[in-house]
Amino acid sequence: MQAARRKPPADPLIQINDLKARGLFRQLLETESAQGRRVILKGKSLLNFCSNDYLGLASNPQIIESFRLGAEKYGVGSGASPLVCGRSSAHRGLEEAVAELTQRDKALIFSSGYLANLSIINTLAPGRSDQIFQDKLNHASMIDGALLSRAKLFRYSHASTESLETTLAGKPSGRKLVLTESVFSMDGDTAPLAEIASLSAREKACLAVDDAHGFGVFGDSGAGVLEALDLDQEQVPIMMATFGKAIGCAGAFVAGSKELIELMVQKARPYIYSTALAPALAVAATKALLLLSEEPWRREHLRALITRFRTGAEQTGLVLMESSSPIQPLITGSAARALAMSKALYESGIFITAIRPPTVPINSSRLRITICASHTTEDVDLLLETLSACGLNNS
Ligand code: PMP
Repeated sequence: MQAARRKPPADPLIQINDLKARGLFRQLLETESAQGRRVILKGKSLLNFCSNDYLGLASNPQIIESFRLGAEKYGVGSGASPLVCGRSSAHRGLEEAVAELTQRDKALIFSSGYLANLSIINTLAPGRSDQIFQDKLNHASMIDGALLSRAKLFRYSHASTESLETTLAGKPSGRKLVLTESVFSMDGDTAPLAEIASLSAREKACLAVDDAHGFGVFGDSGAGVLEALDLDQEQVPIMMATFGKAIGCAGAFVAGSKELIELMVQKARPYIYSTALAPALAVAATKALLLLSEEPWRREHLRALITRFRTGAEQTGLVLMESSSPIQPLITGSAARALAMSKALYESGIFITAIRPPTVPINSSRLRITICASHTTEDVDLLLETLSACGLNNS
């Protein structure tokens, strides 16, 4: 017999105390500086190894200047949702830059990646007769999108084409949507996208790839994992990525065929009923896209740092996961150990937050180390030395 699910008590204080007792209470942090190689936290300058600012663009002077010019021209707020009067020529400019970079027909700009993923599902698999197939480790935005839909949700084993194939087998006809991340946000590994693309095509399922953690980092021109794997619009009809990570801004896009984008404008409720991205951010992101192609040295430097970290970690006896991305998690197991490790690093001047359930599965709490192009080789060496000196060995 299946154990009944524990119902949380109604009293907020009892719930909070329960979270504290289980080491799962989350605390809002408050940095007092720009995002970058170092951040100030509670007045203390820390070397930052937990940001998604993979290319170090969040405080890039050229992008800040574009943002300033954008605010002068368009003001601060977009004023309304896109279909009312919130979409401006700044958004159109960014859409065109994205479409060109990703080699897709068209793109649509969202104020966040969370809303973009809700919108994909809301447009393509909203009804009871629809079916959604997702990797078990997909980001919460895709899980939540499926929970908001009336479609049937199936979750296949992480990064397993075999499991997806078994899950797809024998299902009734009707609209099928397959959703996966490219680079997984908490593990840093990559989905077998070429295989998933051919399987989806064979099963007549529409494939959407969330490249939030690959966009800007992978591919010769920085267009992401799909560029690196040479997967075109026919093979991956829906591409999504965010501007809040390697691009150093905020917001997101969906790119694909003209018809897909038109349908999203007509149907995607999270797009239609939410205020458009601040136009100055669209101007800043457009500048960041230009820097992706003009200054590829950031990606090269980042790759060299990742290799240095992995080689050093192996020599130090740290057990890392299989990842060639900037995300290099160090699994600690218990939430308490992750918190203790994060605290010891903080005392030594290094900032890495502990990632605990429900963000990751139970007993797989971790330090989610992220390497960024703003780091130096000395920073990476210092991280390795500090992990070692603190006795933070997980082997
Ligand atoms: N997809 C993935 C894989 C993510 O990691 C995130 C952000 N953590 C999102 C979507 C949501 O993007 P945003 O932060 O822009 O809402």
